[in-house]
Amino acid sequence: MSLKNFKKIILRPFGFNFIARYVDDNPTSESIEDGEIVIVGSRSYQKWAYLKCPCGCGNTTMLSLSTKRRPSWSVHLNWMMIPTVYPSVRDVGSCYAHYWIKKGKIHWCRDTGIRYTEENDSED
Ligand SMILES: [Zn+2]
Repeated sequence: MSLKNFKKIILRPFGFNFIARYVDDNPTSESIEDGEIVIVGSRSYQKWAYLKCPCGCGNTTMLSLSTKRRPSWSVHLNWMMIPTVYPSVRDVGSCYAHYWIKKGKIHWCRDTGIRYTEENDSED
């Protein structure tokens, strides 16, 4: 079964928004499909995570998974490659999307779409 069909047949009916896959090299924006987190690296060493912003703006979001860089995120995958991303993801440059990805599902933050400032800093 192709990944596309897998997502359509298995994931959508269960309400999953994201599934992950590994690649060796940084992907181009065009190669990233909606609903997938593309992880550069391997199970033992994850470098970057790429995803299309789930707000629908079409931007590609890059998350550093290297613990040597700040900020950095961690992505945990279950046996079905369903991702949990920690901490929340916030777009600070254009659409200001702010969300958590937990067990493949998007949880939108109350301040999503609102420009980030020190004053309205929150994690939920
Ligand atoms: Zn967006």
